[in-house]
Parts: sequence; structure tokens; C-alpha cells
Amino acid sequence: MSTAERVVVVGASLAGLRAAEQLRAAGHQGPITVVGAEPHPPYNRPPLSKEVLAAPPGGAPADLLERVLFRRRASTADVEFRLGDPVAAAALGAGTLVTEAGHTMAYDGLVVATGLRPRRLAVPGPETGRHVLRTVDDCHGLRAALPPAGPADVVVVGAGFIGCEVAATLRTLGHRVTVVEPVGGPMARVIGDVLSAAVQRHLEASGIRFVLGAGVTAYVGDDRVGGVLLDTGETLAADVVVEAVGSVCSTEWLDGNGLDLSDGVLTDNQLRVADAGRVVAVGDLARFPNPLFDDVPRRVEHWSVPTDTAKRAARTLAALLDGEAPDPTPFAPVPSFWSDQLDLRLQSFGSPALADEVRVEEGDPGHLTGGVLATYHRAGHHVGTLAVNLSPARQRDLRNAFAGLVPIA
Ligand SMILES: Cc1cc2nc3c(=O)[nH]c(=O)nc-3n(C[C@H](O)[C@H](O)[C@H](O)COP(=O)(O)OP(=O)(O)OC[C@H]3O[C@@H](n4cnc5c(N)ncnc54)[C@H](O)[C@@H]3O)c2cc1C
Repeated sequence: MSTAERVVVVGASLAGLRAAEQLRAAGHQGPITVVGAEPHPPYNRPPLSKEVLAAPPGGAPADLLERVLFRRRASTADVEFRLGDPVAAAALGAGTLVTEAGHTMAYDGLVVATGLRPRRLAVPGPETGRHVLRTVDDCHGLRAALPPAGPADVVVVGAGFIGCEVAATLRTLGHRVTVVEPVGGPMARVIGDVLSAAVQRHLEASGIRFVLGAGVTAYVGDDRVGGVLLDTGETLAADVVVEAVGSVCSTEWLDGNGLDLSDGVLTDNQLRVADAGRVVAVGDLARFPNPLFDDVPRRVEHWSVPTDTAKRAARTLAALLDGEAPDPTPFAPVPSFWSDQLDLRLQSFGSPALADEVRVEEGDPGHLTGGVLATYHRAGHHVGTLAVNLSPARQRDLRNAFAGLVPIA
């Protein structure tokens, strides 16, 4: 049942940590090494755009980290963590990895868990004053750039979930916040136009300005950003810019192995990387088909996915290491995300982004704090649910109801 072979997990964040835990839960007794690019042990990212960003100014980076570190479970007490030295290249045929510092590691089984990094805008202008938010160090850098004694002009580029959360949090701190988005309204691609417009009105009522349908052409300033030039000709005052314009998958270290890395790492439904031997992928970069929706492989960038994929991928890898076939039972996790913006809690189940129709089932989008329920449908099939400010008990019922639609165990 168990194996003494060596597993290397590349990526020391939520998915990597959960993969190590789940390998032990799946009976793997051999050595496990988790290799991370960041110098920090695994920590939780969602608070970085919410309560950690909003925490009182000051404090050392270590204090911020302390607030978000994951607890180390007893089952992983003997897992080795090699941090601060990214894997630079992999030779999957030989079962070896080499790190940037030049260390070579051999593995019998490999877990790919290297997630995402922020996309950067390719526009001219000074670098100082430009920020992204993915890591605890990014969060520290952004906090340090905000003047403690007075409001700053902040421009957030991108009105996706992270952009909206950052805007909301910085507004609660009293900063003057403008959100620039070239395509659609806030989070519209995922939650649809009606709910997007409703959230926009709610955020605007707090003083956040939205400039929609405009792109950034340059940052203005000599040695640091002082403004943001838009393609409409307008220049927005900016002491601080936060670019929240999507992500890039961290897969370069897998180049040259013949894998499909066109969008993350392509796997089968059991999270096994195609034509790669005993290799599985987990978390934000795993692109797998979910029979809950169809047979199209997709990546899902939600906090629930690293845990769900780690559970299944660990079982798959443990079986492969034992020379057995992976469990063929379809893997059909219910994706879920939440987002906190001002006094709103958005909670979603399923994949609203796949929908061609949105139905507001309860509540008034003009009064989001009173509670709104919307369902999302594709060709008449329910593919997602969005609850805004509904009680935790209600959210649980909605999740169970959505999961109950799934014909697969
Ligand atoms: C600011 C923020 C707020 C969020 N809020 C929410 C929320 O409210 N709700 C929600 O559902 N989700 C939220 N998320 C998303 C959630 O945090 C992610 O889905 C989750 O972090 C994905 O985990 P992961 O381990 O797959 O990838 P990541 O967290 O991206 O971790 C990948 C790790 O691999 C490392 N790595 C990369 N390349 C290499 C290499 N070559 N060698 C070794 N290591 C490498 C990286 O440094 C990183 O530590 C948020 C994310 C962010 C950034």
C-alpha cells in the first residue's frame, strides 16, 4: 500500500503543503521534500488583500508573515522544506530537478505546485510606486508605500477580484482610490453584468471611482510614479499604483519536457500530467477536466482548489508509486470562492463564469447588503451560484444544494 520512494513537491504554498499532507494521508511513507521559491514557509494569501493589508501601519515583515502562516500538521513533521531556492529546470525522463543555486535532486514521484505570479503591465514610466499583490513581501511593500499620516492617491489597474478587494480595503483606510479597467465592469467576466454593476455602485458609494473602458498607456513621473496616463488622454494622480491585471503560470522550469504548458499544466481527470510518468499537478496551475461541467480542461484560481486537487493527486501519485492504476472514479470538485469588499461578502459555488444566463433569484441588486442570491446557467443547466451577504448557514445549504446537482460521487 505504501512506498518508500522519494516525492518532491515543487511549490511551497497552499497546494504544495496540502499535497504533502495528503500524501501522508494516502499512506506514502517515503521521504517528501517541498521546494519553495519564496524564503517563507507556506502561508495563506487571501488575507493579504483584506485584513493584513488593513492592519495598522508599521511592524516588521515577520509580523505580517506570522499572521498568515499555516499551522504545520503532525503528519508532515518529517517533511523537509527547502525554501528560497526555486527549481530552475526539470528533466522528467531522468527524474531529476536542478535548483537556481545549482542543487540537483532526484525524485521517484513529482508534484507540480508552482501556482501563479502577477502579470505586469508593459507600459513605460518609473518603476518606483508600482506594486502587485501576490506574496506577503508584496503586501509589506505596498503597506510601506502608503503614507501613514494622510490619504494617498491610489490607482488600482484591473477590476477583477483582487483589484476590487485592494480598492475596497484601501478605501476603508481613507485613501483616494480610482480603479481603471479596460474591459467590462468589476468582476463582470465571472459574476455577470447585473451583479457587476450592483457591486460597482456599492463601491462607488464609498468613494471609490471607477474609470471603465480605459487602458493605461504610461506611468508619469521622473524617479517615481506621480500619475497614470490613460488612452482616453486623462492623467490620474497617483502616489501608488497597484497592478491587478491577472496572472502568469509559473511553469518555465518544466520547459523542454514536451508537456502542454499552454495554460498551466494539462492533466487528466486524476491530476496526472500527460506523458510525464509519475507526475501530478495541483492548485491554481492544474488544468483538468471537471465532469461537473464538461470534458474541457480548465484551471481554477480559487482557494478551495489546492486542497481538493491535493487530495486527489496524492491518491493518484501514491497509486502510481505502488505500481497500481489510479482510482478511475471521476474527480468532480465543486469550485468555490469568497470575496470580501467593504461590507459585502460574495460567496460562489460552481463556475459562474461559464454561464450564458444569470437569474437573480432573491433580493435586490440595488440593495446588496440586504442579501442577494443569483444562479448561473449554461444552455439551461445550473453551473454556478452566487450569494451576496447571505448567512453562513444559508451559504452551506446552497453549497450542498449545488453539490447535490452533481451526479458523480
Ligand atoms: C491577494 C490574494 C487574495 C486572494 N483572495 C482569495 C479569496 O478571497 N478567495 C479565494 O477563493 N481565493 C483567493 N485567492 C486565491 C488563492 O490564494 C489561491 O487560489 C491559492 O493561493 C493557490 O495556491 P497554489 O499553492 O496553487 O499557488 P500559489 O499560492 O501561487 O503558490 C505557488 C508557490 O510556488 C512557488 N514557486 C513558483 N515557481 C517556483 C519554482 N520554480 N520553484 C519552487 N517554487 C516555486 C511560488 O513562489 C509560490 O510560493 C487570493 C490570492 C491572492 C494573491
